[in-house]
Amino acid sequence: MTKSKTGRMEPKQDSSQAALLEVKSWLRKMETLSVPKQRTMQESQLKLLFNHACNCSAWWRNRLTLAGYPQQAGSLFTVLAQLPPLMRSDLQEHVDEVRAWHPDWTAKEIFTSTTSGSTGLPVRVEKFSAAFNLLYGAVSLIDHEWHGRDARLPLLIFSADADSVRPDWGSLFAPFQGGGCVTNRFTSNCSTEEEAALVLEHQPAYLKATAFRAAAIGEVFLRQGKIVPLRQIISQYERVTPRQREVCRKAFGAEIIDRYSCEECGWLALQCPAHEHLHVMAGTTIIEIVDEALNPCPPGVAGRVLVTSLQSYAMPIIRYDIGDIAEWGEECDCGIRLPVIKRLWGRRRNLVRLPDGEMRPMVFHGDDVAKIPEIREFRLVQQKNSDIDFFVRATRPLSVEEVEALRTLVLKIDSQLVVTVREVAAIDWGAGLKREEFVRLES
Ligand SMILES: [Zn+2]
Repeated sequence: MTKSKTGRMEPKQDSSQAALLEVKSWLRKMETLSVPKQRTMQESQLKLLFNHACNCSAWWRNRLTLAGYPQQAGSLFTVLAQLPPLMRSDLQEHVDEVRAWHPDWTAKEIFTSTTSGSTGLPVRVEKFSAAFNLLYGAVSLIDHEWHGRDARLPLLIFSADADSVRPDWGSLFAPFQGGGCVTNRFTSNCSTEEEAALVLEHQPAYLKATAFRAAAIGEVFLRQGKIVPLRQIISQYERVTPRQREVCRKAFGAEIIDRYSCEECGWLALQCPAHEHLHVMAGTTIIEIVDEALNPCPPGVAGRVLVTSLQSYAMPIIRYDIGDIAEWGEECDCGIRLPVIKRLWGRRRNLVRLPDGEMRPMVFHGDDVAKIPEIREFRLVQQKNSDIDFFVRATRPLSVEEVEALRTLVLKIDSQLVVTVREVAAIDWGAGLKREEFVRLES
């Protein structure tokens, strides 16, 4: 911080911070615009992206031409709706053609994000570093502002990165709010009890962890009769269940703040400051939710998420099927007019396949399963033959009635499903950060 001529404390700014604040204020302006005005702003961004894609990639020029671009009449959203979804396989098989580098750019200005996703097949997405970092930083600041965080307070992070301690929250937040200690702990090989001990040792104001781990730690404290106050739990790696939110409220007096992002595109949506649903970052992202015939889903109907990253010049991401299932909500009453994602259902592999072949979101079982307090963990797996295994780790054997009660939870979705409760000493969660309560194995 520096003192200005008027004596007021003002953040020390260099040109990159000035650019960051400019982008942030442009994005924040979108919040208060009506949806038609948001779409007008998105359309001007789309036009720049489509023109760039046509000029710098024959693959995109061909796709856009077939979709009717440049259109004689009507909106660019009509062209967008004519484009076939961009699939992971396109990014895997046509990486050189999907790329749309401007001739003036050099490899130094581009970085590559790689994600293996749930399929194990890596996808590479190239990004123009300066623009991506600016947008990513601006949305991070918006998340910070919406949720009133104070970067002068200590933050504890549980992650798969090596242990580290930093004096502040990094170059994004420190210039505006000063220093607050950030401790990262590698906890991939820790028990929940060990993680709970770390929370007590560090006494952070904020905990960044998956919602699953935060709730598991909360349950440890509740069993010990302790309440350990936190300001917030910052989550982003997995969907958040109502039960996880409830446990964290009881154990920490804190809300889980969810963020929706993906490696390929960066931030997509942030949790509303007043409610549990998400607001789409309409300045950077167009999200469509469509059914299997690619028709838009109305609010309340779950469908495939298609993402268009409006500033994805290096490798245009237009109508990208990221493999998630979500549903729209109604307009929010918090003052932010950005589109509302009411619920993320998870990946397509989190949908249950019914005997007639229909796919349905698996309803959350956390609250019902918790009625048997001895159950510490559970996981449902739909095998390739469609049978469902309900794996349960409990501190004592379950009674016949309890096993039947668990089976009934799943049979409520469809009584023809074949469900077997399997009591196990340890749940196999597979590799990766995301812990999926329900997963369907692809045949
Ligand atoms: Zn809202």
